[in-house]
Amino acid sequence: MTLPDYAIEAENLVKTYPATKTTPEMKAIKGIDLKIPRGSIFGLLGPNGAGKSTFINILAGLTKKTSGTVRIWGRDIDERPRDARAAIGVVPQEIAADPFFTPKESLEVQAGMYGVPKSERRTMELLTALGLGDKADAYVRQLSGGMKRRLMVAKAMTHNPPVLILDEPTAGVDVELRRQLWAYVVELNRKGVTIVLTTHYLEEAQELCDQIAIVNKGQVVACEPTAQLLTRLDTRNVVVTPEEPLQAAPELAGFETRLRNGGAFAVSYKTGQSSVEQVLAAVRAQGLHIKDISTEDPNLEDVFVSLTSA
Ligand code: ADP
Repeated sequence: MTLPDYAIEAENLVKTYPATKTTPEMKAIKGIDLKIPRGSIFGLLGPNGAGKSTFINILAGLTKKTSGTVRIWGRDIDERPRDARAAIGVVPQEIAADPFFTPKESLEVQAGMYGVPKSERRTMELLTALGLGDKADAYVRQLSGGMKRRLMVAKAMTHNPPVLILDEPTAGVDVELRRQLWAYVVELNRKGVTIVLTTHYLEEAQELCDQIAIVNKGQVVACEPTAQLLTRLDTRNVVVTPEEPLQAAPELAGFETRLRNGGAFAVSYKTGQSSVEQVLAAVRAQGLHIKDISTEDPNLEDVFVSLTSA
C-alpha cells in the first residue's frame, strides 16, 4: 500500500455556525486550505476564537463542515467517514475520563469501540509508555489531573492511528508533565506517527513543530516550516522616547517607524540585518535627542499583526 503524502488535506474548508435566538451566525472557518505532511509534527497556532477547535472537531467527526473537502490519510471524510476517523486519534482539550473505570478498563473499552481485536491491543504498553503502568488498576477518579491527561493520550492511541491530534495538550499542565508528554509525542513521531497540535504557546510550537500554520479569524495567514516562520520573528522593536514629544513618527532610512503614546515612537528592525546601534544612529541623524529607549521582543501577537495588516 502506498502511503499518502499528506496526513491531512483540507481544501476550501468552510464552517459557519448558524444563528441562534441569542447569537448571530458565526463564520468560524472561512475557506481553509491546509496540507499537513505525513510524518511531521505540525503546529496549528492562533489566538482564542481563531477556529482551531472547530477544525479539529471537523477532523474528529464531531462537527459537520459547511462545505469544502477534507481527507485524513487520503480518505475523504464524506466518502469514507469510518476509515477517515480510524486514521486519527484525538486528545481533546477537556479531560473526559470515566471515573468508574480503571485506566486499564478505560483503554480496553476504547479499543473495543474501535474494534481492535484483543490480540492486537497494547493496553499495558501504552499505559507504561505514558508513565501510568503502576496506575493500571487504580480508579480514574484517584488519578491526578496530569495522569488523567496522559490517560487521554493513551486512549487516543488505542487503535494505533497514524495521525495523533492534540488540542491544547499542555494548557494548565506543569512543566515536568509537559516534558514527559512531549518526550512521548516525539517518540511516537519517530516511530512514524504524524502529530498535529494546537497551542497558543509559541515557544512550545517553536521547539517541537517542524511546520506551523497560523490561523486567524478562520483563515490560514501563514503556513511554513518553523525555521522560516522564525525569520519573520526576527523583527524587533526599539521604542524611543525623544526629549521633545513627537506628533508623527519620524522617517528613518531603512526602518519602519510607528508613533506611540506620549510622543514616543517604535522603530522595527531585523535582528539579522541591523542592530540597535544602527537604529539609534538613524534616530540621531534626524537631529532627535533621545530621552529613553527600550526594546521589545516579538511575540505571537506581533506576528499576527505583521501577517494580517499586510
Ligand atoms: P479556537 O479553538 O481557535 O479558540 P474555536 O474553533 O473554538 O476557536 O471558535 C471559532 C469561533 O467559532 C469562535 O468565534 C467561537 O465563538 C465560535 N464557535 C465555536 N463553537 C461554536 C458553536 N458550537 N456554536 C457557535 N459558535 C461557535
